[in-house]
Amino acid sequence: MSRYLSRRFDGLTAYTPGEQPQDMQYIKLNTNESPFPPSPQVLAAIDPAEVSRLNLYPDPECRVLRGKLARLCGVTPENVFLANGSDDILNFFFLAFCDQSRPVVFPDITYGFYQVYADLYQLPHRVIPLREEFRLEHRDYCGVDANVVLANPNATTGRAISVAQIEEILQSVPDHAVLVDEAYVEFGGESCARLIDRYDNLLVCRTFSKSWSMAGARLGYAIGNAGLIEDLNRIKFSTNPYSLNRLTLLAGAAAVDNPDYFRQNCAAIIKNRAFTVDGLERLGFKTVPSQANFILTRYPGRDGRSLYEALKARGILVRRWDQPRIRDHLRVTIGSRTQMEAFLNTLDKILKGE
Ligand SMILES: *Cc1c(COP(=O)(O)O)cnc(C)c1O
Repeated sequence: MSRYLSRRFDGLTAYTPGEQPQDMQYIKLNTNESPFPPSPQVLAAIDPAEVSRLNLYPDPECRVLRGKLARLCGVTPENVFLANGSDDILNFFFLAFCDQSRPVVFPDITYGFYQVYADLYQLPHRVIPLREEFRLEHRDYCGVDANVVLANPNATTGRAISVAQIEEILQSVPDHAVLVDEAYVEFGGESCARLIDRYDNLLVCRTFSKSWSMAGARLGYAIGNAGLIEDLNRIKFSTNPYSLNRLTLLAGAAAVDNPDYFRQNCAAIIKNRAFTVDGLERLGFKTVPSQANFILTRYPGRDGRSLYEALKARGILVRRWDQPRIRDHLRVTIGSRTQMEAFLNTLDKILKGE
């Protein structure tokens, strides 16, 4: 730290991304990426003629992709906001809608960035513990005097709540903004995006990083009432209007033109998830029921760190947090069938002490 950093960041702890090792080839089951490449149409869209136009700024309104996404989601372009990854949208939500008189609440076990943004903007906030077996009790959020941030399905746990339960929350906090982070919704959750016409306090946030196989492109979008979208644009155009680069916009448009490819991949992940949960159960693991492209699992009586390290030593990366309630759990991204077979076989060997 230099002596020039503003004192207000003295105690700030930054988000720790999952490892992206460059040293050797791991079976990478630690950051919820897709094991599949982007669609052939996406590869074809990034042609040399397009690369040669990188001397020009991209469209700051992102009109083409916004129109396509609006059609795909059954809303109008005024209901769609595009950003450089959904992390950007989360950032804008905390910046735009939360302040000293507008606190925010989120669960204790969820996407780690919510806490980081609350700290970054020094917001009054409250962390609401998940109930037994990491169940999110929606009534814990009904009538809170604060903005609400939830991931559904929840990050880290994979558990989801119903649209009816989200609607109860929305109804109970009409004077507060509610962010529903649907990063994993395509793997078995139920989207609440259709509620935006009835609830002007609802912002739904999604990403191309997981289900669309495009984590490296950095593309996220939000769906909400036109007023909320206008607010987000005000922040975007006050910070970085060109935050989406030309190639990412093209890649996104090509992906949306071919949603069948992405649907097939999601179906494959759902199948591999069932295969993995089954295999883990046979080995004696306890796994939290998941609607996402990852699972949270533990082996009773064995500490999480040693398992994590044993897997890593054998070339398999998973994610683990040294945090109360989940320190003995591993979060495992669901990859291809071959990857999951390797994962299960390796665990079997580790448990047998081989
Ligand atoms: C992965 C993830 C994000 C971040 O997505 P990007 O679009 O890659 O920034 C946001 N929210 C949750 C819950 C996630 O798991």
